[in-house]
Amino acid sequence: MAKTIVIGSGIAGIATALRLRAKGHEVHVFESNAYPGGKLTEFEKGGYRFDAGPSLFTMPSLVDELFHLFGENPRQYFNYKKLNESCHYFYEDGARFICPSDRDQLSEELARQNGESSSKIKSYLRKSEYLYNITSPVFLENSLHKVSTYTSQSGIRGILNLWKLNMFRSMHRHHARYFKHPRTVQLFNRFATYNGSNPYVAPATLSVIPHLEFGVGTYFPEKGMADISNVLYDLAIRQGIVFLFNTKVESIITEGNKIKGVRTKTGNYYCDNVVSNMDIYHTYDKLLKDFTMPEKVRHREPSSSALIFYWGISDTFEQLGLHNIFFSADYEMEFKHIFKSGDLFNDPTVYINVTSKHKPDDAPRGHENWFVMVNAPANNGQNWDELIKTCRTDILRKLSKHLGKDIEKLIQVEEVLDPRLIELKTSSFKGALYGGSSNSRMAAFFRHPNFKSDLEGLYLCGGSVHPGGGIPLCLRSAEIVSKLVH
Ligand SMILES: Cc1cc2nc3c(=O)[nH]c(=O)nc-3n(C[C@H](O)[C@H](O)[C@H](O)COP(=O)(O)OP(=O)(O)OC[C@H]3O[C@@H](n4cnc5c(N)ncnc54)[C@H](O)[C@@H]3O)c2cc1C
Repeated sequence: MAKTIVIGSGIAGIATALRLRAKGHEVHVFESNAYPGGKLTEFEKGGYRFDAGPSLFTMPSLVDELFHLFGENPRQYFNYKKLNESCHYFYEDGARFICPSDRDQLSEELARQNGESSSKIKSYLRKSEYLYNITSPVFLENSLHKVSTYTSQSGIRGILNLWKLNMFRSMHRHHARYFKHPRTVQLFNRFATYNGSNPYVAPATLSVIPHLEFGVGTYFPEKGMADISNVLYDLAIRQGIVFLFNTKVESIITEGNKIKGVRTKTGNYYCDNVVSNMDIYHTYDKLLKDFTMPEKVRHREPSSSALIFYWGISDTFEQLGLHNIFFSADYEMEFKHIFKSGDLFNDPTVYINVTSKHKPDDAPRGHENWFVMVNAPANNGQNWDELIKTCRTDILRKLSKHLGKDIEKLIQVEEVLDPRLIELKTSSFKGALYGGSSNSRMAAFFRHPNFKSDLEGLYLCGGSVHPGGGIPLCLRSAEIVSKLVH
């Protein structure tokens, strides 16, 4: 039986462990934290439950698939519901838009509220779906670094249609040409942030992302987002995968161009394959010191990070839904601050996730659990304490104005997560949420492959390698690794 060690129990690490277990490997997962899940975890404080990281769940079938590998029925362990509303949008001009997740309804509503042509919105979303379907087999489901990807029927189709991906225009320019109203442009520009990028620089190729929200749909796991990690961890335990918590891998043991195992403080562990779920920068920097870090890893622009306030709020707000966005009046300036000056804009776009809207026991009765997030630059040693203090005031001012109440007075419980802590807790390079940004036409090709060609037996999964960050892509990386491992 092949013996495989997975370094890290992020969502991609657990999914890879499961897929290799299903192929008959003996799998051990080494995790430096005391818990599984990496960024996808939860915590409780003062009677409130908070999802610590991701809040938007798309493509749940990728989670279900992992149960099917072992002949288990996912519905026995993991349940979720499809959402009718994708997000509540609040604009600085006072406009509000409850965004339906149904394509037709969305088109009608944008026509009614923003004067768009509903047929144009529909055609944008149809194109988003079409491009997603033709590019997914090349860019998301297979290794970009194997000839077989390009010689398969779907690969050839994808390559022949590459020109349709609007790689030479920024997402914002594409949207500004397509839609009439700046509010519609801002709404669709926001999808660049789903992989931590800047819509004013990132190619319009990213306009395939809205298909996930309006075509495939958005979902809410009945027990909260962290349940995704929890149920997959439980499945892994049932299938005999061994987890070693509080066990940091210090280096990868190699002999010539072959993997031999991993080294931890407690000793050496030998195996046939190692899969690193650790951020690719740190995999090279910390675990593979005898190997040269590729330039594209060393110089890659990290995706945005985030500043999050977890607030237990002693009131309820009927204006809010599960997902809420309070847009900046100057979106372009906000991204300049994030990606150029490396600080926080004084009118940030504020995202609030309130799971107690769908899961009332996440907050005491008459209260709400707010996950309040702004996009933030990667950690480059800024004076975060100062930035956080100022940003907190800016957020409170903005929310109090929109919601008509002094929000600070309602905060009962507070926790803060910033780029430094994200880096510290998950070894994510500079606290990036999604590995590298997609602020370049060639970003997909610059991501590190899921293997290392000069080191037999080493594979790589997770948000910092191909095909990228976010739960669905991390799950795809696990699938690609399992196809690559012999
Ligand atoms: C605040 C926030 C909001 C987000 N929102 C969304 C969202 O709404 N939707 C979405 O899809 N995605 C979202 N994301 C992104 C998503 O969380 C990540 O892309 C995904 O969870 C990354 O998973 P991963 O498997 O790459 O690894 P990670 O979750 O980064 O986990 C890596 C694991 O490896 C362990 N590790 C690292 N080095 C070692 C070592 N040397 N030895 C042992 N263990 C090690 C770490 O402790 C960690 O547990 C968000 C992320 C954050 C932080």
